[in-house]
Parts: sequence; C-alpha cells; structure tokens
Amino acid sequence: MSKKKGDSVVLLSGGLDSAVVLAMELKAGRKVRPLYFDYGQPQHFTEMAHTRAILKHLGLHEAIAEYVSLVHYWKPYSHDGNFDYPMRNVIFISIAVNYAYGLGIPRVVTGIRNSIYADTTCLFVDVFGGMVSTLAQDKVQVEHPIYWMTKSQVLKKALKLGVEPSLTYSCIRGDEPCGECPSCKARKRLGI
Ligand SMILES: [Zn+2]
Repeated sequence: MSKKKGDSVVLLSGGLDSAVVLAMELKAGRKVRPLYFDYGQPQHFTEMAHTRAILKHLGLHEAIAEYVSLVHYWKPYSHDGNFDYPMRNVIFISIAVNYAYGLGIPRVVTGIRNSIYADTTCLFVDVFGGMVSTLAQDKVQVEHPIYWMTKSQVLKKALKLGVEPSLTYSCIRGDEPCGECPSCKARKRLGI
C-alpha cells in the first residue's frame, strides 16, 4: 500500500462547506493538502484570511495550503452587482486533479453541494467525475462528501466536528457581509 493511499487534496474557499469537509478528512485520519483559489472574486482577501484562520483552528499550519492565483487568466463576469463564474468548478477541480496526480494523492475532495448552478448539478458531478477517472487512469477520484446535505445539516456537522462557524466567510459580493446575497441570507437563516 502506498503511504499516500488515504491522503487527499481538499479545495478550500473560507466558507462553512469546505471547512466541514476539511474537518471530516482530518477526523478520518487523512493527511490533507488544502488548495485555495484566487480567481478574481471580490471577496478574495477576506476568504483567504478566513481560510488561514480555519486551517489554524483545525490544527494545521497555514503554510501547508497552496494559494493558487488565476487572476491573470480568468475573470468573473459582473451583472448588476452579482457575479457569474462559468466553468469555475471545472477549472478548480481540473487543477486539483493535476496537483494530486503529480503528488501521487488519490483523492480530490470538495465542499460542493447540489444546487441550481450548472457546475454543481448531478449531471456535472457524474459526467465530470467519470471523465476525471478515465483521464487520470483511476489514479485520482473526485469526491463530494456533503453533496446531498442541506446547509442546516452542514452546520450541525460543523458543530459536531468542532468547526467554529464564525471563522468562516461566504459573502459573494465583497470583503464585508452584504446581508443580501444568497450566501449571506443562508447564513442569516442559520444564525451564523
Ligand atoms: Zn453577501
């Protein structure tokens, strides 16, 4: 058995979902390689700060994370104060699979949950996951352990695993919670 048999590359965003996934991987005794992406999102600096805080909170040194900048290659599209990120998860997971493949790590783990966004649907997960398995010759698998959880179930899981929700950040509009975007509203409903 390879010494990296159970290791995983975990995609982090500074939000509650990816923080819970990271905690689940650590609880399972896996060695993790966190990846964070700067892709031109307006909340980048706050997300990165929260990502660092979460790593520290879960007993990891922030230096173990790879902070990947895509800002020179790919930009979000702004529509009336809202941002559109076509193909975002395709790009993130592709880079993560490449990274894992090179290190001999067999799993890429995300905090993606089922939603209306095109790159979070069942079709996307099935088709893209199958494509990755084929192209990576089954050396890397993509997993989404909280895919079917509601936000409320994720919060319960966070509390059970000792993840402090206030250390996470999810506003999609900037470095201060706007209170109006879908992420802010979901957090408000849960009292985070
Ligand atoms: Zn917001």
